[in-house]
Amino acid sequence: PDFVPLTRGLAVPQGISKASFLSAVHHLKALLGTENVELNDTEIKNGWYMEHPNTHDMMPLLHTEEFLASAVVYPGSVQDVQLTVKWANKHLIPLHPISIGRNLGYGGAAPRVRGSVTLDLGRRMNKILDINAEDYTCLVEPGVTFYALYEELQRRGLGDKMWIDTPDLGGGSVIGNTLDRGVGYTPYGDHWAMHSGLEVVLPGPEANLVRTGMGGLDGGNTWQVFPYGFGPSSDGIFSQSNFGIVTKMGMALMPNPGGYESFMYTFPRESDLAPLIDIIRPLRISNILENVAQLRHGLQTLSVKGHPRTKFYKGSGPVPENVWRKELQDTATGECAWVYYGMSYGPAHIRKYKLDVIHSEFLRIPGAKKIDPSTLPADEYFWSRDRIASGTPDFEELLWVNWMPNGAHIAFSPVSPIRGPDATKLYELAKKRHDEAGIDLMPAFCVGLREMHLIVEIVFDSEDEGMRARAEKCLRDMIDDAAALGYGEYRTHLALMDQVAGTYNWNDGALMKMNNTLKDALDPNGILAPGRCGIWPARYRNRGWEL
Ligand code: ADP
Repeated sequence: PDFVPLTRGLAVPQGISKASFLSAVHHLKALLGTENVELNDTEIKNGWYMEHPNTHDMMPLLHTEEFLASAVVYPGSVQDVQLTVKWANKHLIPLHPISIGRNLGYGGAAPRVRGSVTLDLGRRMNKILDINAEDYTCLVEPGVTFYALYEELQRRGLGDKMWIDTPDLGGGSVIGNTLDRGVGYTPYGDHWAMHSGLEVVLPGPEANLVRTGMGGLDGGNTWQVFPYGFGPSSDGIFSQSNFGIVTKMGMALMPNPGGYESFMYTFPRESDLAPLIDIIRPLRISNILENVAQLRHGLQTLSVKGHPRTKFYKGSGPVPENVWRKELQDTATGECAWVYYGMSYGPAHIRKYKLDVIHSEFLRIPGAKKIDPSTLPADEYFWSRDRIASGTPDFEELLWVNWMPNGAHIAFSPVSPIRGPDATKLYELAKKRHDEAGIDLMPAFCVGLREMHLIVEIVFDSEDEGMRARAEKCLRDMIDDAAALGYGEYRTHLALMDQVAGTYNWNDGALMKMNNTLKDALDPNGILAPGRCGIWPARYRNRGWEL
């Protein structure tokens, strides 16, 4: 159903009466304009990717009303953000900043603390403030999506000169994705590494405004070209945290490399994983493989075609191997256990050198096959990867949520070195826990440069309470199993943040102790995104909020 009435009523933030909260909201309307503050007191509307909600997660792992906003604010300027922060400090009301709020698989737009007020920065603060065609940089506000930046480059006639880097889904915000340390698939795929300069409203009662790096200088033209400036590099504390509200960010743009070519290889056996990962490592580190290397499981290649799982298998438990193998026989990849998607950049003669090395290395795996792109129809998923790896936003990737009715997804995403034994250990622990939970395992290994992220997306029916519980248990077990082997997640869903933060516990949790010190210094009233990434302000800490 599209609209669902609230069963628990208005989500009033803890520690304040409903009447005082309503009067505070009234006050905020007077400050920002009535039309820029909305109370969320009647119903929940789920929408879909393009019209996603900004009050909750449209793909809930827990009950939807668990992580629900009480109201939404639409600031139109940095000054509006500062006014809202001062207001929140005065009334001790938690604020949850989002840029676009499409953070699917990680909690969407939902706040960690029920009753938080969503600060929807993207709706009105969505300007591209600068595109510098000499330096290949840009400066953006929170509401600028990958699509918007791409389209603006085309509109200005710069699309042939410079590229953006887009994640799998292009509808997210450049700032939101970068702050959450998302990745893309050109050589500029490490978004955090490619940003230069932040402007941040601090959460304390004065709502001070700072600029990082060269932005600390009054004036000048180096803010977007040199990320460090002088003194401590403070940018890091604003990513995957709750230490500030980012209102501007600089980002590098990639020069058009002068040509590109996607390629796809298939490998027949699941056991090819370890030797293949060992083949990929030196190629990736030496940049013969130039973009994030994606090695996807055959079942995922099947699910991304967008059909419900019941088309292939009506039983319960994971789709059996003989079933998905048989289905793959009639597809472009043919029967296989793994599919590699990659791209080579540069003019033809330069690509040839690299592609020849890759070809002879990959063919060391018996039965490995290169698929000729000219044989692939235009709607084959390969071309979606081709667009993304050449900096064109897309959202075909989302098709695999059709695998389940009311399809939602959530990821287990540990990082490890690019080594066969690591890949095998992580794959086996994921397989064991998926089998126990009766859930289809669809892993993808994404190789950064010296590390790989294993991304295991669990697709679940968000209306099926039993399945949600199985998905949650499966994730929690995998996180604990991985931590016991020394692997940690690179990013996680709201509901799992305390658990993941708890695995980074070396030396009696020294890192979290430092984070807590920073949190209490920067946000003494604890108003900004309490609990995000497991960081709780003093007012909430050890009072039963952790999950
Ligand atoms: P997407 O770009 O995928 O739509 P979001 O806008 O939801 O992502 O951002 C992802 C997460 O990053 C948010 O949940 C929030 O915690 C954090 N975030 C996003 N934008 C900002 C911002 N401007 N300042 C501080 N934190 C932010």
